[in-house]
Amino acid sequence: MTSTSARVVVDLAAIRDNVRSLVSHARTAQVMAVVKADAYGHGLVPAARAAVQGGATWLGTAQVHEALELRRAGLGGRILTWLYTPDAPLDAVLEADVDVSVAAPWALAAVRAAARRTGRTARVHLKVDTGLGRNGLTPAQLPELLGSVLAAEAEGTVDVVGVWSHFAFADEPTHPTVLAQATVFREMVALVESQGVALEVRHLANSAATLTNADVHFDLVRPGLAVYGLSPVPQLGGPEAFGLRPAMTVDAGLATVKPIGAGHGVSYAHAYTTTEDTVLGVVPMGYADGVPRHASGGSGQPGGPVLVGGRRLTVAGRVCMDQFVLDLGPGAREVAGDRVELFGTGADGGPTAEDWARAAGTISYEIVTRMAPRIPRTYLHEEEA
Ligand SMILES: *Cc1c(COP(=O)(O)O)cnc(C)c1O
Repeated sequence: MTSTSARVVVDLAAIRDNVRSLVSHARTAQVMAVVKADAYGHGLVPAARAAVQGGATWLGTAQVHEALELRRAGLGGRILTWLYTPDAPLDAVLEADVDVSVAAPWALAAVRAAARRTGRTARVHLKVDTGLGRNGLTPAQLPELLGSVLAAEAEGTVDVVGVWSHFAFADEPTHPTVLAQATVFREMVALVESQGVALEVRHLANSAATLTNADVHFDLVRPGLAVYGLSPVPQLGGPEAFGLRPAMTVDAGLATVKPIGAGHGVSYAHAYTTTEDTVLGVVPMGYADGVPRHASGGSGQPGGPVLVGGRRLTVAGRVCMDQFVLDLGPGAREVAGDRVELFGTGADGGPTAEDWARAAGTISYEIVTRMAPRIPRTYLHEEEA
């Protein structure tokens, strides 16, 4: 079948299998599949369902609306949401039985108020900043807040079920900050527990720490990228080294194929020039679809890689808003509608999201999350075989 339309194809069996693999890496710890950012571009609800089928007992979203959407879609189990501002719909969060992070003193007050309004007890995870320098209560802030935490527990508005934190250098497992953050984390957990708070879960590990550092698994691990089959530590090994396989494949049909002469400039600013009589192919995907403009090719700079007709080629010239061009080579046999794969599992000899990340000077996280909502998602293996 040929089509000119771009597609994002998501293999839900890969997500199920990746989570199974993460469950075995996590050993005694539970697995929270992080499905923020529309499940890293894979589609929030289908990806979350597949993750649960694979054995994830928790789901995590940064934004509150995604947690609520999971509940509306009928997903049960524990859900944690963690990044919000004072205007967040916390009443709805509590009514949906979604666990909520408290990362700042104002947030504790807001959660208590929402609990009073709704008559619910908020299940709270205290987010502590053990060194990342981003969201979370610092070691200086936590002791000051504990009085209010205990008062909220006593009045029944808040149940502190978790203490959690996030690494700065999880992708460099031997970096000294990893050990230092784990030590601060243990101290902050001990401080909370010394006040008589009974925690269900202590959690610190993202994908990289889940796969490379069993000492920091605690009760629950929070992999995101690995759920989707990408390696969080490409310098240490590809997905297969960790029992993972990429779930997302992106392809499009050729819109135009035409012969062109030697010495012809290609695309805006003629950043690429043909060196011989050749054939150009136009791919109807551009930076508005999430193809990075930084992966343009020309003047000795190889562009983003593709697989077409069994050969690996790279983007010729500038990536435009809606399209980019390939130099298909002299005598190329492609016709309009033939498929061009931008990235996939790599098993067919085609490029991966990691290859695009290298071509664009970024990380694979950014490649998959930036695939635009205007590209339709197609799901494979929705039912377990
Ligand atoms: C995104 C995120 C994760 C998952 O990170 P990966 O590197 O994709 O595994 C875990 N915890 C927090 C707080 C996050 O923001």
